Amino acid sequence: MISRGTSRTVHAKAPAKINVFLKVGARLDDGYHDVAIAYQAVSLYEEVRVVEADDFSVTVSGSVELSRVPTDGANIAIKAARLLAAKTGYRGGAAIEISKHVPVTGGMGGGSADAAATLLACDALWGTELPREDMLDLARKLGADVPFAFTGGTAIGTGRGDDLSPALAQGTFQWVLALADFGLSTPEVYRELDLHRERHAQDIYPVDPRPSVDTDVLQALRAGDPVMLAAAMHNDLQAPALHLQPSLTEVIELGEQNGALAGIVSGSGPTVAFLAADLDAALELQVALSAARLNVVRATGPVHGARIVSD
Ligand code: ATP
Repeated sequence: MISRGTSRTVHAKAPAKINVFLKVGARLDDGYHDVAIAYQAVSLYEEVRVVEADDFSVTVSGSVELSRVPTDGANIAIKAARLLAAKTGYRGGAAIEISKHVPVTGGMGGGSADAAATLLACDALWGTELPREDMLDLARKLGADVPFAFTGGTAIGTGRGDDLSPALAQGTFQWVLALADFGLSTPEVYRELDLHRERHAQDIYPVDPRPSVDTDVLQALRAGDPVMLAAAMHNDLQAPALHLQPSLTEVIELGEQNGALAGIVSGSGPTVAFLAADLDAALELQVALSAARLNVVRATGPVHGARIVSD
């Protein structure tokens, strides 16, 4: 057994993600889909503080709507802490405090960021020192987006999205995020996509079961060129998300009319991520969308993955 450390607080943070490219393969026999994703971590962070305790508990506060966040063992932060304890043989627990800034069920991987930050914070608190590869294995068990919240930067994800390889990226991209006051359930958006594909064209244009990221996206990231990236961005989940929430179409149009190079539904939505040409364009867009009473946040990417913060 590993001995318990002293009673202190460890603080970690992990970023939200934008899917600048997301292609969904044909539905596999097990009901899942292989995907090809280009992820970018952006400067919107979840903060997690952990303190040694006999048991596992979680409290949640923050700047976003919190009613859909469970505060029992269903919270992914508790699952992460328990998984690390089971893996390392640590016998104690942790009191976990989450400060949430990423919209819940927003398609930006907020829960995944909580899980990644909790893994890192508990490992430091308990002194379990799990090797990075083992941490990434635990991350994968917790959810397809958790490994990316751990590594951050810009990366390509294949398989379920968790088979990650870093992508070469230059410079900083300026994003303006339009947050919705409702959530979209990821499984529901995938169901809508499957239904759409069953109804249309599947036989004429069969869907590749093993999709890949378009080379234009890789080139745009490598060049650090927002105009190129705006032209190459794509999300197969956008059409089903817009079908479930038609009001998002107007949001995208409004952003594009106000100077965004392009707007894209992030992941399964409903957050819309607008790419701006530069900081001035991002600031102008932020003002215009706020004036239209949208809840907007500005962010830059790429940023680092989960990190310990020294208070
Ligand atoms: P993704 O983009 O990775 O599909 P998301 O950003 O759309 O995810 P999250 O906010 O990460 O969605 O997760 C939402 C779901 O997970 C909700 O059903 C919520 O009840 C559950 N959940 C469990 N733990 C958490 C947590 N710590 N924060 C937010 N949601 C959580």
